[in-house]
Amino acid sequence: MNLENLTELTRDLKTLAMNCGCVATGVCEISVTDESDTEIYNRWIDAGRHGKMEYLTRNNEVRQDPEKLLQGAKSMIVCLFAYPTAHNHVAGVPYISSYAMGRDYHKALRKALTPVVKYIRQLGEEARVCIDSAPLRERYWAQQAGLGYPGLNGRLISPVAGCDFFIASVITTLRLKADKPIPTHTCLECGRCIKACPNGALDGHGGMDARRCISYQTIENRDEIPRNFNLAGHIFGCDLCSEVCPLSARPGTTPIIADLITRPDMATLSLADWLAMTPDVYETLFNGTPVRRASLEKLQSTARRLLKHKISEE
Ligand code: SF4
Ligand code: SF4
Repeated sequence: MNLENLTELTRDLKTLAMNCGCVATGVCEISVTDESDTEIYNRWIDAGRHGKMEYLTRNNEVRQDPEKLLQGAKSMIVCLFAYPTAHNHVAGVPYISSYAMGRDYHKALRKALTPVVKYIRQLGEEARVCIDSAPLRERYWAQQAGLGYPGLNGRLISPVAGCDFFIASVITTLRLKADKPIPTHTCLECGRCIKACPNGALDGHGGMDARRCISYQTIENRDEIPRNFNLAGHIFGCDLCSEVCPLSARPGTTPIIADLITRPDMATLSLADWLAMTPDVYETLFNGTPVRRASLEKLQSTARRLLKHKISEE
């Protein structure tokens, strides 16, 4: 394919992806990840900062080489989908992270990107959509595709969507015209995220210790939350280091696909609601949402911790 056709095809696919509801899209060439990225990742694992998320220690060959996820892959179309920010949160009720208050993003984004996959397949090529499920360094590839830069809050910051977005990647055997990473690192290094983190999870260099992170403790950790851990009123996930970031997108400034819109019934659950929740109510409220990642038992155990803290404060 000549350069002109390559440019046109890439532009058409990006337009199609934008029409699917993403707020930014970029392309990168499939290659192995930089040695420096691999080293940083391995050091993070070796230090035990992944806690008990053992799946992060497996499939390293795949994690370093996305071609192993799709034989013959040549390009990756990386798409950012914004989700509503924490500003929908109701004061005084246990906090659920903003991303979790809509439909399960894995399903929603896979469905949203169907036209892109179809288009590629009609050209006789193959495509595989990865959304936080395959061993893929999603933030790394989004950065390679020119979609953002790393912040000290450990998140990728997008000039369009701030810190609050999902990354969906379409790996394809199509050769496309690659974008370039954003040349300057523009995290303001103001340190607000580090100060806002209740248990000191952020190391000041862009790294994060999952064991000190509320998201990990309220979602991934299946064991008891450490006794002195400060939940800061959270029951599922945490957005503090994104909320305080001056580079976060202002609410209402980025388009959000309908499936990701906050469900109001989830935003108002009081501590008493959580403690009294029956399996039926849990099913009705959270079926098809990311909150299902935590069992009712786990959520109620966290709610009891919040109650204990509240009582000791009174
Ligand atoms: S809060 Fe400040 S230091 Fe932290 S990521 Fe945002 S701009 Fe960077
Ligand atoms: S999500 Fe919350 S607990 Fe985790 S690093 Fe950010 S501020 Fe800290």
